[in-house]
Amino acid sequence: MGEKSQKIIILGSGPTGLAAALYAARANLEPLVLTGMELGGQVSITHIVENYPGFPDGVSGPDMTELFRKHAERFGANLVFDSAVEVDLSKRPFTVKGYNEEYIGDTLIVATGASPRHLNIPGETEFTGRGVSYCGTCDGYFFRDKDVVVVGGGDSALEEGNFLTRYADSVTVVHRRDELRAGPLLEKRARDNPKISFIWDSVVTEILGNDTVHSVRLENKKTGDKIERPIDGVFIFIGHIPNTEIFNGQLAMDEQGYIQVDRYMHTNVPGVFAAGEAADPHFRQVITSAGMGAAAAMEAGRFLDEHVGYAN
Ligand code: NAP
Repeated sequence: MGEKSQKIIILGSGPTGLAAALYAARANLEPLVLTGMELGGQVSITHIVENYPGFPDGVSGPDMTELFRKHAERFGANLVFDSAVEVDLSKRPFTVKGYNEEYIGDTLIVATGASPRHLNIPGETEFTGRGVSYCGTCDGYFFRDKDVVVVGGGDSALEEGNFLTRYADSVTVVHRRDELRAGPLLEKRARDNPKISFIWDSVVTEILGNDTVHSVRLENKKTGDKIERPIDGVFIFIGHIPNTEIFNGQLAMDEQGYIQVDRYMHTNVPGVFAAGEAADPHFRQVITSAGMGAAAAMEAGRFLDEHVGYAN
């Protein structure tokens, strides 16, 4: 694969990457998709997506991923299970080094998404997978009849907190302010859920345990009070960090690492496009990511027509 220059290489297989792949494939551009470590990206581990048009009863993250994948492959997208570790965007065709192979492409669509932000407190790394989790859908099952803490006050914290009450005896949402960031629907659902309670104005400062987590240290930011609270699990939903490190120094980014694009998904490097959560700190929805992916593929097609001379 390394020998042949691809017309379009797409990095990432979340809604952004697979929508880009669908559009590029339907334009006969035979896109090569490096899936990254997780086929489907963040949505693949989401319990249910209820706000994607066309699915009035909701659709599970894994089902949605499968539908997106099938749809792109039906028109000829080539999905390869590999992850980019290094890129050279200084000249065209661009070079992408994966774990397995090296790839070259005339255009590149960055659809690498984002990863959960960490608290960076003592015990967090040590107990990840042993009581600390960033995914209720993946790990909720292990907390049947247990007591868990959810950290964060956004939509993710409340959506996942609600989901966790299927298994856990109690879910305590620890939020650093006294006002939620989450939307009113999720807030109402959480407040109406008898298994959910809130600790306001507080942060988790340490996660403690032996083999697995047994407690957390909490600090009230307003009063300075510190307590230790027995707990079986800590679920952390405090936002995301864009997966854009390998483009440092090559693509223009904002101070948080989001790739800067214009309204046509163009980066500062002609022929390189970015879409979805790698470039979008604002909307971060499946539908907006998919839309940006489609737009990036259309623009990559135009670029190929103009600069490389591919006719369809
Ligand atoms: P978010 O909206 O950025 O919320 C992050 C939360 O974590 C905030 O409440 C923030 O507190 C808190 N936080 C951040 N850093 C922290 C730290 N170091 N220590 C303690 N708390 C910290 O992230 P999100 O909830 O993952 O949502 C991301 C995007 O996806 C949003 O646009 C959201 O609307 C969307 N989303 C939508 C749905 C849905 O519609 N069903 C579901 C999930 C996500 P502050 O509030 O004080 O900043």
